[in-house]
Amino acid sequence: MKALVFKGPATVAVEDVEAPRPGGPRDAVVRVRLSAICGSDLHVYNDHVPGLYSGMPMGHEYMGEVVTVGADVTSVRPGDDVVGSFTLACGGCAHCAAGRFNHCTSGRGYGFGPLFGDCGGTQAELVLVPDADVNLLGRPAGVSDEDALLVGDIMSTAWYACRRGRVVDGDLVLTIGAGPVGVLCAMAARAQGARRIVLADTVPDRLDRAREITGAETVLVGEEGAAAAFRAIAPSGADVVIESAGLPAALLDALTCVRDGGTVSVIGVHGEESMRMPSGDMFRRGVDLQMCGPANVQGVWREVMAAVAAGTLSPSAVISHRLRLEEAPHGYELFAARKAMKIVLDIA
Ligand SMILES: [Zn+2]
Ligand SMILES: [Zn+2]
Repeated sequence: MKALVFKGPATVAVEDVEAPRPGGPRDAVVRVRLSAICGSDLHVYNDHVPGLYSGMPMGHEYMGEVVTVGADVTSVRPGDDVVGSFTLACGGCAHCAAGRFNHCTSGRGYGFGPLFGDCGGTQAELVLVPDADVNLLGRPAGVSDEDALLVGDIMSTAWYACRRGRVVDGDLVLTIGAGPVGVLCAMAARAQGARRIVLADTVPDRLDRAREITGAETVLVGEEGAAAAFRAIAPSGADVVIESAGLPAALLDALTCVRDGGTVSVIGVHGEESMRMPSGDMFRRGVDLQMCGPANVQGVWREVMAAVAAGTLSPSAVISHRLRLEEAPHGYELFAARKAMKIVLDIA
């Protein structure tokens, strides 16, 4: 089968690789129809993940049709259209039993090589899905392939970030970072009852697109940071700030922009060993800091898919490019150069 593989720093290629074969009774094989390129794929692309090797399959977002299932799989059957979760949970450990699938002790995921169990990639014609009952969700009638695809990662990630931020009716929500996850956080916040939503970013084009998609207000972040720009239009601060940029400066801005007693929910990936934080100010003002970690996709995706089916969420609005698998290397170049908001790969 054809699959996109890592070849070296900033180098990927479509190659013929061995097709996955179902081994266990809880496995399924899915023929991928759509995959997508995600911001976290760039950590692999840029060779910033330990243990990568030439020929390693890439990608973690996918939807398609079930081809085969093992004897113990009960929730999906061959021929079903499904979306897969980007992280792989076992369904049996203490965390999974408690619904914290993102902390599953099996520590597996697609497209990151040995660090997450060398489970293969989803920018490929076929994907082996272990513990298929936990890691696949059926696509309801009326939901498009593209909307279903994004429920497997970024739409559910955004929904989870808003849940961790405890968005309630009437809230003012600030989202720092207007990339695809930031935009979907704004969409999720609206669906969860936010009254006023503001998106902040340093790139004017991104803000224009984000405003078109969400109807949210936008503030352009200049050299003085998001806090100055935001406080000018919302002096009393935000009830909830979602930080989707994953940068220390963005987190500090979030802590400054939140109102007394408000919540900062951090979904942008932080990798720094440590950073200075205004802990005294945070304590005095009772700021609730939620570090989300990888999203609990399987914990929220039924709720998210229902909202998509009801038309409350339309995540495919963030898709800017549709390419064939053969064009994926070009897609990575575009995405790495920040010339694309969200790239979907047509695998069929
Ligand atoms: Zn992703
Ligand atoms: Zn588990």
